[in-house]
Amino acid sequence: MDLLDDARALQGDLVQLRRVLHREPEVGLDLPRTQERVLEALDGLPLEISTGTRTTSVTAVLRGGRGGRGSVGAAHTVLLRADMDGLPVTEQTGLDFAAQNGAMHGCGHDLHTAALVGAAQLLSRHRDHLAGDVVLMFQPGEEGWDGAKVMVEEGVLDASGRRADTAYGMHVFSCQKPKGRFFSKAGTLLAASYKLTVTVRGAGGHGSSPSTARDPITAMAEMITSLQTMVTRTFDVFDPVVVTVANVQAGSRHNIIPDQARFEATVRCYSPATYEKVPAALRRVLEGVASAQRVDVDVAVDPEFPMTVNDGNEVAFGAEVVSDLMGEDRYETVTHPMAGSEDFSYVLQEVPGAFIGLGACMPGTDPAAAPMNHSPRAQFDDAVLADAATIYAGLAVRRLDKARLDTAAAAAGSEAR
Ligand SMILES: [Zn+2]
Repeated sequence: MDLLDDARALQGDLVQLRRVLHREPEVGLDLPRTQERVLEALDGLPLEISTGTRTTSVTAVLRGGRGGRGSVGAAHTVLLRADMDGLPVTEQTGLDFAAQNGAMHGCGHDLHTAALVGAAQLLSRHRDHLAGDVVLMFQPGEEGWDGAKVMVEEGVLDASGRRADTAYGMHVFSCQKPKGRFFSKAGTLLAASYKLTVTVRGAGGHGSSPSTARDPITAMAEMITSLQTMVTRTFDVFDPVVVTVANVQAGSRHNIIPDQARFEATVRCYSPATYEKVPAALRRVLEGVASAQRVDVDVAVDPEFPMTVNDGNEVAFGAEVVSDLMGEDRYETVTHPMAGSEDFSYVLQEVPGAFIGLGACMPGTDPAAAPMNHSPRAQFDDAVLADAATIYAGLAVRRLDKARLDTAAAAAGSEAR
């Protein structure tokens, strides 16, 4: 079985699928066109397919021909996940297949979807060699919609009839890493995040006479800068916290002090201890500034994603698969977690597994300078699709083999005793 050769033969089809998805991105939990295209692409493969009820997810189960369910001994199940949603960003890449509908596949989820379709084709072709079952998880709503959580609640982890034993996810990056480089690390790979929403309530008035009003805008400005100082004065620099205020709303005209101002921020951190401490630290600063400036403040700190924590053994296994199939120079163990968050974290809370990054910057661009995921100018080279499909498929094939050998060794061991 040469997965890479087979995948290269599929490359043209995968690029075509990716570009069709790219042209028409959908946002959130409801991705009817995307779902339709995935179902079309999977049509004819020997899969047991179901779709979500609260979201347009697609779950496909492939029964291995070698020791799948019903054979002697409980066979292992591997879950492979791709997210499918775009972003509410107007694309500015100028690509000939750029989206025109005001949304954008600015995080490369179109590549994930196409690569997992490729893996479905590879695994179906080599089904007879599969020593267990594979669950393919096509997930809407990763970008802050908790799509993975919805799919977990709807039973994706048990889709094969037994709880998935191992789970892998993959993510492409338009920058930072050279094209074709797979990377990951044991333990925390991605941050936990909170959404912070702050409403500052003052009393409006004439811009000429601020002393007769209670100005929510100056109070808000002080809150925003105080939050930055709070981060370094409250948290250890070696256990970092990021606070980014990215949405600010107040006022209507240059000479009217409004009653109210409002801002939103994303807050990221990397350890459970810090994650616990963050809400109280935010409140202390915001309420303190509000009191000093004679305004009222409503603070909402909503948990978004848990930390994405890789299982040490599974990430080492992933590294071995990449090195074996692609060459040792294609895998890098990164030293630091990345600042993003992922709702695959909900899967990894339940099932040991690994999340693996893949560099996909455009040819001729400097990875350090290329526009990042989520930028309206982010571009991803779909030349990586065959490799991504190969690694998805390779992880499943080899992990199932390893589980079969481990089970056999354990049985032999207990007989010998
Ligand atoms: Zn993403």
